Amino acid sequence: MPDPTSPARRRFLRLGAATGAAAGLAPGLLPARTAAAPRVQSYRRLGRTGLEISDISFGSSRLREGQEALVHHALDRGINYFDSAYGYTGGDAERVLGRALRGKRGEVVLVSKVEGEADWPAARMMAELDESLQRLQTDYIDIYMAHAVNDVERLRSPEWHAFVERAKQQGKIRFAGMSGHAGHLIECLDYAIDEDMVDVILCAYNFGQDPAFYERFTRSFNYVAMQPDLPRVLAKARSKDIGTVVMKTLMGARLNDLREFERDGGTFAQAAFRWVLSNADIDALVVTMKSTADIDEYLGASGASSLAAGDLELLFRYAQANGMTYCRHACNDCAGACPYGVDIPNVLRTRMYATDYQDVAFARDEYARVTPNAAACASCSGQPCRDACSHGLPIAEMCAPTHRWLA
Ligand code: SF4
Ligand code: SF4
Repeated sequence: MPDPTSPARRRFLRLGAATGAAAGLAPGLLPARTAAAPRVQSYRRLGRTGLEISDISFGSSRLREGQEALVHHALDRGINYFDSAYGYTGGDAERVLGRALRGKRGEVVLVSKVEGEADWPAARMMAELDESLQRLQTDYIDIYMAHAVNDVERLRSPEWHAFVERAKQQGKIRFAGMSGHAGHLIECLDYAIDEDMVDVILCAYNFGQDPAFYERFTRSFNYVAMQPDLPRVLAKARSKDIGTVVMKTLMGARLNDLREFERDGGTFAQAAFRWVLSNADIDALVVTMKSTADIDEYLGASGASSLAAGDLELLFRYAQANGMTYCRHACNDCAGACPYGVDIPNVLRTRMYATDYQDVAFARDEYARVTPNAAACASCSGQPCRDACSHGLPIAEMCAPTHRWLA
């Protein structure tokens, strides 16, 4: 699907070119790749859990049947933290992890999650947990999270609290957490942290959301805007010794866009990870690993606690090229703009899976869970949401084709 080339996008590109020059970015300054096979270089304490986990860890959201060797490769490279969820790939992700990690249970940290609604009874969550335990071939999960929380009511639910207490008493889970990457993320994180109801948080965080990234260039570059509250929330989690793991670190993961600018073996993904790992309020990141080559590339950034020379140039080029089609994780500024109630952020999140991750099957699975989806866009003029995006995204031009493609 072609990216829209709106007037706003052309304005952005002109501005980006100007600010890139102003920043004095110099090419050719990336570190050389080492000859040895990359391995995890750093294990970090995951807050109050006391667990020591690989700084770059395994996300299994697209792990499919038959990929046990991929998990073994991650283990061989020193990765010890495996993030999954009840709903990933229809249960395949947990089943593959269960088979691949047989005999290794004591060496790894396992994470799973339950999606659910605010009105779910504890018994229903317990049934999903029991099924996850069976698939993962274990009798306990280290960290169990409320998955994709974008509604504080889910966190307020007494049924969630009763479920967590019972699951801990029964030894089925050791620690509780929440994950989030869509609207109301800040509000949900604030609530979970203030109420001291989580040991670990997993949230979307990348250079493109971070005000500090734009401050490295010029104030005027905040045309692409940011999430000013996210650093505050991460710092608050740190102050309470809550473990902090982040995801969606690649700002959409359009990796092929930048190959021509990557030099001396340093890659855009590594630069993006170094940005994340240089934030002292973050313990580790998880990223979907689809191949052994992914794992080896990603681990090239393990052990980093600061940017390498050349990283800013790559990140800047990425933000410049993709800022006008990237729907910011956890932004919800367009809420209420659509008279038909289309869940715009989640429609555009699934579009990202199809266009950026190039995983249409996964995108269709996720799109099937979006309500209301973008069906109404097919017969809408697009006027109501025309100027609703605070980041200049052409919502109607992006949502209508997404429905045709993924419904
Ligand atoms: S195009 Fe129309 S239906 Fe679709 S999101 Fe915009 S206002 Fe809603
Ligand atoms: S479409 Fe724009 S305003 Fe709406 S969530 Fe995405 S980035 Fe934010």
